[in-house]
Amino acid sequence: MKERSSIDPILEGNLTLVRETIESACNAVGRDARQVMLQAVTKTVEPQRINQAIALGVRCIGENRVQEFLEKKPYLTLDGVEAHLIGHLQTNKVKQIVGEVSMIQSVDSVKVAKAISDRSLQAGITTPILVEVNMENEASKSGVAADELERLLHEIHNFSGIHVRGLMTVPPILRTEYEKRHVFSKMFQLFVDIGAKKLDNIDMLELSMGMSGDYREAVMEGATIVRVGSAIFGRRQY
Ligand SMILES: *Cc1c(COP(=O)(O)O)cnc(C)c1O
Repeated sequence: MKERSSIDPILEGNLTLVRETIESACNAVGRDARQVMLQAVTKTVEPQRINQAIALGVRCIGENRVQEFLEKKPYLTLDGVEAHLIGHLQTNKVKQIVGEVSMIQSVDSVKVAKAISDRSLQAGITTPILVEVNMENEASKSGVAADELERLLHEIHNFSGIHVRGLMTVPPILRTEYEKRHVFSKMFQLFVDIGAKKLDNIDMLELSMGMSGDYREAVMEGATIVRVGSAIFGRRQY
């Protein structure tokens, strides 16, 4: 554990505010805040700052890029902390990341799911995954279209090296509270509908949605994981 004096007070204040916002969003809709995992998104953030967040109680981090994560990992104090891959994954990077993270949230094709499964079986492990859904069918974004989701799940449900634990989405930038809640509630409905079908080897336990600009609304609409970067670490410097 780091000395308190080495912790950036702004980081600590940001984290407190994000936690309070999650709690008040839960209270507003009668949810238990323990049902919501705050995932600190650490892309572009240097290991020392990530370790400060961990010292402040962050228990889950999210990284977008395989290379960046693997470079930083030796410097991270990850005991008891989950690291998830949340960025688009190319098949040729699968070999490097399987076994290095506790979940891959951004699976959106049979091909990548198969590659993760095969690699996991070789390594003697099962990799928990989420399927990324492109709710608004944005051409620029990865993710499977909502109306293709069930077909994808049918194609991957018997891949025994993966365990589908839920869904993830990165919606377009939403402006009004109404817009945000509308998109997130549609996503929640999809999550519930798929869960009700009880497909073999497919569980709908985790719903990962909500980022710095909209995690409050995501929590109100049923997110179990919110992925928050800049509201914790400040604006990213690329
Ligand atoms: C960067 C990123 C986030 C966090 O974004 P912020 O707006 O900084 O909170 C969440 N999810 C994904 C997939 C990201 O790439």
